[in-house]
Amino acid sequence: MKDPTERTVATPSVGFVSLGCPKALVDSERIISELKMRGYGISPDYGGADLVVVNTCGFIDSAIDESLDAIGEALQQNGRVIVTGCLGVKPETILSRHPKVLAVTGPHATEQVLAAVNTHLPQPHDPFVDLVPPAGVRLTPRHYAYLKISEGCNNRCSFCIIPALRGDLASRPIDEVLREAEQLVASGVKELLVISQDTSAYGSDLRYRAVDWKGRRIETRFLDLARELGELGVWVRMHYVYPYPHVDAVLPLMAEGKVLPYLDIPFQHGSPSVLKRMRRPAHAENTLKRIESWRAQCPELTLRSTFIVGFPGETDAEFEELLQWIDAAQLDRVGCFKYSPVEGATANDIAAAVPDEVMEERHARFMERAAAISSARLAKRVGQTVQVLVDRMEGSVAIARTAGDAPEIDGVVRIRKARGLKTGDFAHVRIIGADDYDLVAEPQ
Ligand code: SF4
Repeated sequence: MKDPTERTVATPSVGFVSLGCPKALVDSERIISELKMRGYGISPDYGGADLVVVNTCGFIDSAIDESLDAIGEALQQNGRVIVTGCLGVKPETILSRHPKVLAVTGPHATEQVLAAVNTHLPQPHDPFVDLVPPAGVRLTPRHYAYLKISEGCNNRCSFCIIPALRGDLASRPIDEVLREAEQLVASGVKELLVISQDTSAYGSDLRYRAVDWKGRRIETRFLDLARELGELGVWVRMHYVYPYPHVDAVLPLMAEGKVLPYLDIPFQHGSPSVLKRMRRPAHAENTLKRIESWRAQCPELTLRSTFIVGFPGETDAEFEELLQWIDAAQLDRVGCFKYSPVEGATANDIAAAVPDEVMEERHARFMERAAAISSARLAKRVGQTVQVLVDRMEGSVAIARTAGDAPEIDGVVRIRKARGLKTGDFAHVRIIGADDYDLVAEPQ
C-alpha cells in the first residue's frame, strides 16, 4: 500500500476505475477530461496514483458486489478512494463496508467529484489546459465514441431503479450535443453511438425546444438529432430506442444511408401481459406490425434487443408467447437476462418469483432459439460484399464490424489476409462464412 503521507511534488495523479454501462463510461470520460484540464495526471495503476476514483454500478446485485470489491481493492492498494456512480446513491451501503472511503457522490456528478478530488488532492497551480484535445479524453478506442444525449428517465418500468438512481429525463440541448459530435468527428471518430436511457423520448422534457443551428431552425428531438448527425459523414448508431410511432420517421434516414440501419430496442418480453406488469413504455403497441413496416421501408435494418426471462409471475404460457414472438420478429441480435430482484424494484413484490431452475431452463431455451435465428440470418449474408469498420488487428486478421454490429455487444467480422488494414479503417469485404453470431470475410 502506498504511504498516505508520501505525496509527489510533481503532477498530482488520480487513478480511475470505471464500471458499469456506456452511460457510466461517458461520465468517467467527462471526469477524466476535467481532471486533465485542471492539471491532474491520470495514473494507469493504483500504486502510481495519489488517490483513486471508482465509478460504480448499482444496477443489479452482481454489479453492486463488483463495485464494492473494486472499492476494497483500491483501498487496499492505494488507501485514498473517492466513490461516484450509481451505487453512490446508497452511501450507507458503501460506508458500512468501506468506512475509510474519502467521499461518495451519486451518478452524473462531475462537479462534486472534482470538488472532492480537489479537497483531498489540491489542484496543481499550472493546469496543462493545452494538453487536452478539444474532444476531451475518451476511454473508447479512437475511432468510435459514445454520445450521451440525456440523463435519467421518465418511465417507471417495474424491474428498474434507474429513475430512482438517476432521476427524471434531463435532455442535453441539441446544439450542445451536435457541437460535441462535431468535435468528436474532428478528432478522428468514425462512429458515434447515441446513448441515453430512452433515446426516442429525447427533448420531451425540454418541450422540443427549438434552436438556431447553422442558419436553420431545428428542434431538440430524436428526428432532428438523427438528421443532423446524419450530415457529419460518419456512422451514427442509435441505442435504447422504444417502438413509439414517431420512431417511424427515422427509417427514411436509414434507408438513405444517413444513419446506420440499426435499432437497439430493449423489447424485454413478447407477452402483452408480462409487458404490462413490467410497465414497459409502448407496451400496448403492436410491435410485430411495426417491425414489419420498418423492414419494408429499410430491408437492411438490423434489430438488436434484450429480454428478461423469469419475470415474477411469468407463466409457461407467457414464456411460450415470448418464444413465438421472437420467432415472428426474427431479430438479428438478442441478449437475454434472467430476472434479478434489484433492491427497491416494485416488480419484486407483484407476483411470486420464478424458481431458479425454471428460470435457467427458460434462459437456455430462449438462447437456443435466438442463436438459431441469428445463425440463419447471418448465413444469408455469405457471398455479399459489405462495408466494415476495423476495430483492431490480430496479426494478419482484422477484427471488424458491419453496420449491423455495435461494438462490445454484437458480433464481429474476422477478415483474413487483411494486411494493409489498420484500426479505424473502413473497408469493403466479401463475406465467405458465418457461424451463430460472427462472420468471416476476405478483402474484396
Ligand atoms: S425505460 Fe424503463 S428500464 Fe429503461 S431506464 Fe427507464 S425505467 Fe429503466
